[in-house]
Amino acid sequence: MMKDRLVRTLAGLALAVTALAAGAQQYPSRPVTMVVPFAAGGPTDIVARSLADAMGRALPGSNFVVDNTGGAGGTLGVSKVARASADGYTLLVHHIGMATSPTLYRKLPYDTLKDFEYVGLINEVAMTLLVKTAMPVKDMKEFLPFLRQNASKISLANAGIGSASHLCGLLFMSAVQTDLVTVPYKGTAPALADLMGGQVDLLCDQTTNTVPQIKSGKVRALAVTTPARLPVLPDLPTLDESGLKGFDVAVWHGLYAPRGTPKPVIDRLVSGLQQSLQDPAIVKRFAELGTEPVPLAKATPEALRTHLTAEIDKWAPLIRKAGTYAD
Ligand code: ASP
Repeated sequence: MMKDRLVRTLAGLALAVTALAAGAQQYPSRPVTMVVPFAAGGPTDIVARSLADAMGRALPGSNFVVDNTGGAGGTLGVSKVARASADGYTLLVHHIGMATSPTLYRKLPYDTLKDFEYVGLINEVAMTLLVKTAMPVKDMKEFLPFLRQNASKISLANAGIGSASHLCGLLFMSAVQTDLVTVPYKGTAPALADLMGGQVDLLCDQTTNTVPQIKSGKVRALAVTTPARLPVLPDLPTLDESGLKGFDVAVWHGLYAPRGTPKPVIDRLVSGLQQSLQDPAIVKRFAELGTEPVPLAKATPEALRTHLTAEIDKWAPLIRKAGTYAD
């Protein structure tokens, strides 16, 4: 009797495993939604759309579709993925904000380290500090005294608390010991549009969004946020060399799935991610925008988990020192 039941249970288990493996082999068999927690047309969106195209080529069967759920510094989109079915059909492309939000928010509607499966890192990208073209300064040397004299009149755009632009602005204000009026948007695509239109004065944003506008003169770039200059903007000095010693912010992106997504599906996604990062179209597009895919060893679940944890620990004391929180 006992033996019969055991045989039946084992047979059932074997069937379930076979069905799961078959499902993973067929994956994806319907469109996969990649949630971007910011507005369309911005830097996270650009990375996600390039990746979605390449993933569609790497994992034929269906296409990858971007869903922009912006707001609350990216935390709305992240919550959406945390609550989604863990079947591989809802994924998240998010950046450094995944690591800064746990310190910036007293309470988050998701658990950063418990609610997700990790697929891998995608890329790392520098930011640029930009002013509107009507600003009467041409470089950091002129900007810093101007900023101090006009602080109450200068507005700093960002994509909300928890965004990369927010982190950059926070560290910048702390470095120059000046508070500015901040203006939150659902992403830096609309923030950059307002900077070009002259409605806001200052924005720090990934080169993925800013290189074309800098090159066409629609905004004025003052500096890059990494310790080294960028091949794509070789004449632009770093903040570090412009007097803000040690200033160093680089934005990284990762691919996540809801916790409980079956391992065979995650394995397919890792393979799709790794193939995508070698896709010539992505390599070319990223290079034009001042970034490059991570080495393949970093496009793995373990590498993303390790990086995320290290980044949470790295930014927590710096954010506390700069001193802003959200409820
Ligand atoms: N670059 C934005 C940020 O500041 C987000 C975006 O719109 O992609 O985090």
